[in-house]
Order: sequence, then structure tokens, then C-alpha cells
Amino acid sequence: MKARIKQILNADIPLQSRLFQLLSAIALAEFVVVSVYTILSGGNTLHIAVMLIGTALFGATVALTFQTGKMRAGSAVSGMLYFLMYPLTFFSSGGMYGGAPVVFAFALVYVYLVTQKWERVLVLALCIVVSGICYLVSVLHPELLDRHTVTAEHVESFLSILLVTLLICSLFAFVTSVYRAENRIVQKQKKEIEGLNQAQKRFFSSMSHEIRTPVNAIIGLNEMTLREKIPSEVRENAQNIEIASRTLLQTINEILDMSRLETGRMELTNSSYKTTGMLSDVVGMTWLRAKEKGLDYRIEVEPALPSMLNGDEARIKQILLNVITNAIKYPKTGSVTLTVSGRTDEAGTFRMVYDVTDTGIGIREADIPHLFTAFLRVDEQKNRAIEGTGLGLSIVKQLLDMMGGMVTVTSTYGEGSTFHIEIPQAVADDTPVGTVDLKKAERPDAPDKPSVLFFPNLKILAVDDTPMNLMVVKKLLRETKARVDTAASGEEALQKTLENRYDIILMDHQMPGMDGVKCLHKIRNQENGLCCESKIVCLTANVGSEIEQLCMREGFDGFLAKPVRGMTLSAEIKRLTDER
Ligand code: ADP
Repeated sequence: MKARIKQILNADIPLQSRLFQLLSAIALAEFVVVSVYTILSGGNTLHIAVMLIGTALFGATVALTFQTGKMRAGSAVSGMLYFLMYPLTFFSSGGMYGGAPVVFAFALVYVYLVTQKWERVLVLALCIVVSGICYLVSVLHPELLDRHTVTAEHVESFLSILLVTLLICSLFAFVTSVYRAENRIVQKQKKEIEGLNQAQKRFFSSMSHEIRTPVNAIIGLNEMTLREKIPSEVRENAQNIEIASRTLLQTINEILDMSRLETGRMELTNSSYKTTGMLSDVVGMTWLRAKEKGLDYRIEVEPALPSMLNGDEARIKQILLNVITNAIKYPKTGSVTLTVSGRTDEAGTFRMVYDVTDTGIGIREADIPHLFTAFLRVDEQKNRAIEGTGLGLSIVKQLLDMMGGMVTVTSTYGEGSTFHIEIPQAVADDTPVGTVDLKKAERPDAPDKPSVLFFPNLKILAVDDTPMNLMVVKKLLRETKARVDTAASGEEALQKTLENRYDIILMDHQMPGMDGVKCLHKIRNQENGLCCESKIVCLTANVGSEIEQLCMREGFDGFLAKPVRGMTLSAEIKRLTDER
């Protein structure tokens, strides 16, 4: 009995099988009680015989069902047996005056719950028809009813009510136990998913950090090589190392962004920015590639555009860079045109409109709906030689969705494509930008161009637990003539800030022992410290707007992501010294 109950409550056994066990046990109990009652109350021999045979057959069917595991067939046969015994039970127990009506109700519920699919419809229909016929016959031929004494009929009715009460209570207890078990499983799974999410988050952020640290060294030291007077073959090798490292970095960034978007951790950071500043950054980062490919890069900016906008400048740049890079990457010859305009929509919201048109390979009409699917690269045959992960446009689409923007594509296969992007932006200053020549802003930022900034009077402290990173910073700043000291930990930095007055401190974020944020606070509040007022920049391989926001909130004066270029580092130092 205990083992049966355990089985019925065992969540590993299919629900239908457990329900069949429970209801069949109740039905069998009913058959046994009715048989015993019929014998004790002196029922006729035929009735007793039929009851006993029916009980035995029903019990055997249930047992056989479990032995063979043929649940569907077994439940249908047991349902049929039930209804075959209907008429006999009905007429021999006084029809509607005895316990038969309640037993009928139980039988219908039993059939409905244990049978499946078309057998359910069939057996249920037969049961209803048979019970209807029983009632009809008993009305037309009441003499066929084997009426019992009033006392016996009351006893039978009472027993039937007990049976149905037992059924309802057992069902309710069963459903409650199923619900509790399911709930426990859901809670467990929820915990597991949360754990997995956390683990994924940790994995991606440590993966990003662990990969960026050596890439920082590769790019930084390679930049130093490119600054030297070197044979052309060595220069070519170093330039290829630069390209490969940047591609690796781009891939890491895309995987990180995708993970953030998928787990809902991507956040937009809105602030005011200069329209032309943003555009010239984008052009500055793409023109060299177009030039190297011999493409004509045309830029048309509507003079009436507002000069200051409010939005997530970094993410808008990322969207434009992705689409423009594709427009440069896929064509072999011809031109790339960036048209920038603005419009106010029906709701009165100002929307920046960017059209990027190329005269490249074009995209098949059937492929256009798949362009924004992550990891999918269309027209693989043609694009085999062009590097890419197939993540870029998916990220573009998801970022635009977050911003309430949109992207559409029109293309003629073999001729070229136009990516039309609209982004709602708040206007921070509606003074028109006027005629702008973004090409003037072409800032090659090329690694082989020497840094032109000099800070001979500046004292800089670089804090990082990775010796290679310290070496890279020192070398990147060598030509600026600044004095660069290094510290391999927060503790060592605090020692140095007691002895020297540094103008700028470049601080790593993630360090064993004292991390960058803790060290920043200690420097700011250091007793007898000489650098409480120094400009402190977070220079970290942990990237993402949330890290940047955290650093700025904690009180850093600037934020730079590794790997950093010599020029970017110098520009940040200049910005901070100008601020003083
Ligand atoms: P990928 O890293 O492969 O460039 P994207 O998500 O940026 O990934 O682009 C997805 C696919 O869309 C590309 O593999 C390419 O087949 C197609 N595609 C994107 N932009 C263009 C374009 N300007 N011309 C032709 N095909 C394009």
C-alpha cells in the first residue's frame, strides 16, 4: 500500500500513469465494496456472479496494463469494462433510487481522466449513451428495477456518496501533490538558471579581461615596432599583426555585446554630444579602409541638422561603424556614400536618418530577412574570403530596437545596397550644423604616425598588476617625454603617492588584493598623500558601459579601455592637463 502511494506520488513516473493507478485503485475498492455488500445483503446469484467476474476482470486489466506498460490500451479496456457493468449495477441496485447515479458520475469521471485521444471520445460517448438508455428503460419499464428496501437504498446511496467523496478528495490531494512537486522542480530550475546566468556573466567578463590583457600587449608593442624605422617586410608583418589583433578584439566585443543583449544586461547611456563630433569620429575610423580599397567615400550631411543631440553616442557610433564597415568590406570597387539627414515624425520626435549606400555585391532579396539573424552570414559562397562573425547586424538591430529606431535594407543583387537607419534623438541644441566637411576630420590615427603630443613636465604613475601592461604604457608614452613611474599593485601605488606628486595616475581596475576603485579612494583620502588632487584615469581591460559608469561614479577622472593606442592615451592626458 505504502509502495503504491509512493509510486502515485513519484514525479518521475508519467502523470497519466499515476492518475490511472490512483483512479483504478479507487474503482477497484468500489467494486470490492459493492460485491461484498451484494453478497451480505443477499443479492441474487447472477448479480453476485457478474459483480465478482467484473471485479476480477477489472483487477486483471489494471495489473496487465502495468505489467505491459500499454497504458492507452489498458485504460480504454478498463473504461469499457466499467460501462459494460453499468446496466447490471443500475437495475439490480434500484435504479435512480439506489447508489447507481453517483456510481455513474464516478464512472464518467474515471473514463474521462484515464483514457486518451479518440478512445476517450468513444468510451465516454458509449458511457453517456448507456446511462441514458438505463434511465429511459427504467422510466418506461419500472418493473425491471430491482427495488431494495428503503433502508438498503439509503445505505447504498450513502456508500456511493462516500465513494465519490473519496474520489474527489484523492484527486484533489493528487493534484496538490503534483503542483507542489512541479513547483519544487520549477524553483530548482530557476535557481539553476540564475546560477548559470551568473556563471555566464562571470565567464564573459573574465574571458574579455583575460583576452584583452595579452591583446593589449600585442597591439601596444606592435605599435612601438611600427613607430620605428624598419624594413618594409617587417612593417608589412607588423601591419598585419595590427589588423589581426583588431579583428580579434572586434570579435570579442561582438560576442560580449551579444551576451549582454541576450541576457538583458545591455544598457544605454544617454548624454549630450556634438553631431559633427560623432560623425567625424565615425568617418575618421572608416575612411582609411575605404581609401586602402580604392573606394570613393562620399559624405553628405544636411546643413539644417541640430548641432547637439542627446543619446547614447558610443552605441550610435557602433551602429554606424558596423554598417559602414560592411559597405566598405563587401564591394570590390566603386563608392560608399553616407548621407545624414533628419526629420520630425508624426509624434513630433526628431529622428536622425542615416543612409549608407554601396556599389558592392548586393544582397539577394530572399536573404534580406536573414541579415539580422545572429551568427548567420548570407551568400557564404561569395563572402567566404571576407572575414566576419555574422553578429554585427544582429547587434545593430537589437541596439536600434532598444533606442526605438529602425533599419531597413534595399538591395539589387550584384549592384549594391542601401542600409537606411533611423534613430530618435533628443535635440540638445538646435543651432544648425551648417555646411560640414567631415573629410577634414579624417584623422588617420594610424599606428605608424608618431605621437605629436609632448608632456615633458608631466609626472605619470601607471598602476597595473601585469608587468607587460606597465611596459606597454611606458613605451606608448616614451615619445611624449613625460616621466612615467610604475607600480605593480595598489599597495605599491600608495607608497609612491606618499613620495611623489603625480599629475596623472593611470589605474588598472581589476587587481589582486586592492582593486583600482579601492586604491583610488585611498589615494584621494591618503594622510600626507601628495596625489589627493591628481587626475586618476581608469585604464582597464574590463569594458562595457556599466563598468565605465561605475568608474565615473566612483570618482575617476577618465576611463580608457585596453588595448589603448598611444594617440588615444596622449589625447586623454592632454584633456586632463588642459582641465587643470
Ligand atoms: P559579418 O560579420 O559577416 O559582416 P554582419 O551581421 O555584419 O556580419 O552581416 C551579416 C551578413 O550580411 C554578411 O555576412 C553579409 O553576407 C551580408 N551583408 C552585410 N552588409 C552587406 C553589404 N553592404 N553588402 C553585401 N552583403 C552584406
